[in-house]
Amino acid sequence: MNAPLPTASVNSPWQLARRAARMNPSVIREILKVTEKPGIISFAGGLPSPKTFPVAEFAAACAKVLKDDPQGALQYAASEGHKPLREMVAEQLRAQAAAAGVTWAVDPAQVLITTGSQQGLDLVAKVLVDAGSKILVESPTYLGAVMAFTPMEPEVVSVTSDEHGVDIDALRQAVLGGPQHGQSPEAAQQTSASDRPRFLYVLPNFQNPTGRSMSEARRAALSTAAAELSLPLIEDNPYGDLWFDTPPPAPLSSRNPEGCIYLGSFSKVLAPGLRLGFLVAPKAVYPKLLQAKQAADLHSPGFNQRMIAEVMKDGFLDRHVPTIRALYKAQRDAMLEALANNFGAMPVDASATELDNRLCWNSPAGGMFLWARLPAGMSATDLLPLAVAQGVAFVPGAPFYADHGDERTLRLSFVTPSVEEIHRGVAALALAMKAYAAE
Ligand code: PMP
Repeated sequence: MNAPLPTASVNSPWQLARRAARMNPSVIREILKVTEKPGIISFAGGLPSPKTFPVAEFAAACAKVLKDDPQGALQYAASEGHKPLREMVAEQLRAQAAAAGVTWAVDPAQVLITTGSQQGLDLVAKVLVDAGSKILVESPTYLGAVMAFTPMEPEVVSVTSDEHGVDIDALRQAVLGGPQHGQSPEAAQQTSASDRPRFLYVLPNFQNPTGRSMSEARRAALSTAAAELSLPLIEDNPYGDLWFDTPPPAPLSSRNPEGCIYLGSFSKVLAPGLRLGFLVAPKAVYPKLLQAKQAADLHSPGFNQRMIAEVMKDGFLDRHVPTIRALYKAQRDAMLEALANNFGAMPVDASATELDNRLCWNSPAGGMFLWARLPAGMSATDLLPLAVAQGVAFVPGAPFYADHGDERTLRLSFVTPSVEEIHRGVAALALAMKAYAAE
């Protein structure tokens, strides 16, 4: 009789790399699986509204690209990206900075087209992070960035943040170590280069998950502090164009281009399915990011790049993006109204105790997300199954913290459900909270 074959678990030939042990399924995606049942009103997903995808324009651009230069469009292409698209990106960033009163001389040679800005995060990690390197993130921060960074085995340090973004004193402390508020820049220089954080990852506009934005004063202070501390900034800005009433202040990168890598995306203004984004990097790191890009995927899909360039030419975004802003603003307003109807308007001058005893939320000035906090004693993770039972889903906020998550927080996306669904969904959330309180 033949001996039984060894089972994979006893004698598997597959020995995983140490970094693989650090890769985990996205907590959010796992949560979404539970919430994606038919009939559930979902405030959980992070998807742009499909109503905003310019389908007819892409159909026309696809035909045009194939007619004009089919061989070129279907051939391998330059790793840096399609030249006309890089030029358009540079021009758009220059114009946006100028409108915010700042000169940012973006050179197309500094623009690298990436496979979504998510790839930009991966390249940044590969080029800048060694095992054990300290990297700084806001608290909370975009989970997808932490997932891109962790395989490089960094020490991820959360910097205390408030409704305007990172706290500058906490940042100094995180960079210099210990309680060294007020330490001179000269003393800071003495901190050994190897101990220094490699960068701060920061989302100044309509952050995922909180929807908050960094004020002009905070940007100025962060820019000054980062320069003093020789701390590079990774500025992630996929939502910056989606402002509701006024454009955000100038990007951090425009204030100190040599000290920042800027990440942008076509996902929220055109379509995420094309998987295209870009980064703008100083000369000191661009060649290495390009080499990492070559190793990762040679180049981002040339066909898609040409389609986007075709759609964007003649100022299409100037006509299209305002329609997204108008839609998302109406959606946000519906959610604010529904929250006020069900939980009472957010008081202007409330005491800490009063705020502790009720559902609180912010009012984002752009983007796709609103951030809320449950009354003391409630956990968003525990509330979720009760909410799903009532027919509504959200994402608990705790997974977005690189250190100790605030269990009371939750992220509500307001862009995909209809206004009627927003009202029904928020009412269902109120019922779930009543059921929770009664438990
Ligand atoms: N950064 C942030 C903050 C995001 O929210 C997202 C998308 N959820 C990304 C980057 C990645 O976007 P993409 O790869 O589609 O450009």
